[in-house]
Amino acid sequence: MTASNTDTDCDVCIIGSGAGGSPVAWRLAKAGQSVIVLEKGPWLEDQHFRKDELACCRRAVYTPEKRLEPHVVEDRDADGAWVAKSTAESGWDFWNGNLVGGSSNLMSGFFHRLKPVDFRQLEELGPIAGANRANWPIGYADLEPYYDQVERLVGISGAVTEHPNLEPRSSADFPYPPTLEHPVSAWIDDACERLGYHALRVPRAILSRGALGRRACEYSGYCGSFGCSSGAKGGARAAWLTPALATGRCDIRPRAQVLRLLSDARGRVTTAEYADAEGKVRQITAKRFVVACQAVETSRLLLNSPGPKFPNGLANNSGQVGRNLLFSAGGSGSGDLEYAALGAERAVALKTMGPFVNRALDDWYLIEDKGFAGAGNEHRYKGGIVEFLLAHPNPTGLANRAKWRNGELVWGLPLKRRLEQWFRTDRTLRFEVFCDWLPTDDCFVSLDPKVKDRWGQPVARIRIGHHPHDLQVGRYLADKAERVLKELGAARVRSSISGAPPPNLMAGGCRFGTDPKTSVLDADCRAHEVENLFVTDGSFMPTGGSVPYTWTIYANALRVAEGMLG
Ligand SMILES: Cc1cc2nc3c(=O)[nH]c(=O)nc-3n(C[C@H](O)[C@H](O)[C@H](O)COP(=O)(O)OP(=O)(O)OC[C@H]3O[C@@H](n4cnc5c(N)ncnc54)[C@H](O)[C@@H]3O)c2cc1C
Ligand code: SF4
Repeated sequence: MTASNTDTDCDVCIIGSGAGGSPVAWRLAKAGQSVIVLEKGPWLEDQHFRKDELACCRRAVYTPEKRLEPHVVEDRDADGAWVAKSTAESGWDFWNGNLVGGSSNLMSGFFHRLKPVDFRQLEELGPIAGANRANWPIGYADLEPYYDQVERLVGISGAVTEHPNLEPRSSADFPYPPTLEHPVSAWIDDACERLGYHALRVPRAILSRGALGRRACEYSGYCGSFGCSSGAKGGARAAWLTPALATGRCDIRPRAQVLRLLSDARGRVTTAEYADAEGKVRQITAKRFVVACQAVETSRLLLNSPGPKFPNGLANNSGQVGRNLLFSAGGSGSGDLEYAALGAERAVALKTMGPFVNRALDDWYLIEDKGFAGAGNEHRYKGGIVEFLLAHPNPTGLANRAKWRNGELVWGLPLKRRLEQWFRTDRTLRFEVFCDWLPTDDCFVSLDPKVKDRWGQPVARIRIGHHPHDLQVGRYLADKAERVLKELGAARVRSSISGAPPPNLMAGGCRFGTDPKTSVLDADCRAHEVENLFVTDGSFMPTGGSVPYTWTIYANALRVAEGMLG
């Protein structure tokens, strides 16, 4: 690597082009500011996204080679001791989507808002021993106008379902009608009604009709983990970066791996130093910097950026950078709907491919049940949601999962029979449970003292301890979801709740708050210690809520950008 010339100045340099960075790029460029976005991955467009099963589930086409860019994961062994292992050896992967638009290109687009209780968990539900529960420095009402804007700017399709836990809304309904629904959705509605549950229609960040210069959903069936070739999916590239580019003031630089941020003697960030596609080190100077590399990499970049006023990493004199990392807690379950048991008409309906299930349950977002004995307040606990979906149709993924049964490798004729059964005798209805991953001192990002990446930078070491209460909540919700599957007549109903983090749903690490001793960012997501540094990915979240994060990340990034405009 060789050092080269300093590049042109801009008003704002954004690092990471995903869900956290792109709304800021759009808003600031629209307001007349010059913006440079530095993105470590390549720039792929709609036409590049093929439904290539092998590429997407056997080879890491959208993520770096772990041999060259590993993470180190610290997990407990059987005796409870922390053991560190590189992902190059373990098979774990904490990269999610490294391309222009970030992992939001690959999301399924299940979109949920947080609820008012998520902003004041400590105040409303009290402390839990061993957890760093906190209130947010803003309330739901502060974020609601931006949730609302996201519906129109990204294009969210849905229909408001009157519901006991419906969060307050400033607009009557979604701007686009719901996406097409699979026949099984109506069966779920009936089953829930019989059980006294309230099936909720899930909003999707997917256009149900052509709008915003993008085509409508083509119901490819290959949505989650795959890029969208119609433009319907409201990932950051389609929804924010395309209009940002149209302003003529946003410059996106792909294959630009930011190595460190340089700060001066006054403690201001002056420069982003990055390696370009050829490995040349280049620099961007800007008045303000926004970091949005996704939670783990954002903390890692700050820790890798010591300066004259920050010997332990940028904005880290408090020692808080990397602390209170969050994931979405919970797990998943499934049951098999057997064609033979359904009768001919329903069996044909069940075989429909393409449309979405779009059903969730959030009856237990707060668990007020004397039979539930978790940690914390008596008989009032934070719960979560259950999302129903049909098993992903990717046969390679199915075969890959089918090859193990009870810890034994299944192969040859037994594997063929098992796959045949999946394709010919039944269809699997799945559910995913989302609940809070309580922030603890055992879940954080630091720098690995030995392992370095291809550019010689220390890699992130991720400790992934969870709080046992998370499992109790997850189990409570999974039992409810299992009842729905049984009510539907599904065979082999099963579920698994675990403390293993889902790497695609991460947040925290740079929590915002009012106290600089216990938080990295202030209420505007500006670093307490660095006047011209902002963080706008999910890192800011002090508690995660019980839903996937992207709608909240989009809304908060818009809110922060508005604040940057004064
Ligand atoms: C398969 C899948 C399904 C999902 N489904 C859903 C869903 O249904 N609903 C939902 O709400 N969420 C979903 N998500 C999660 C969603 O994608 C994330 O919450 C969201 O994208 C996070 O935004 P972010 O800005 O933190 O990170 P990203 O969107 O990943 O953006 C971070 C960007 O920073 C870049 N970067 C990292 N380090 C550097 C560096 N040093 N220099 C330059 N660039 C860097 C990365 O390459 C990346 O492009 C899903 C994710 C996946 C992978
Ligand atoms: S066309 Fe529809 S189903 Fe296919 S990836 Fe795009 S949004 Fe998802």
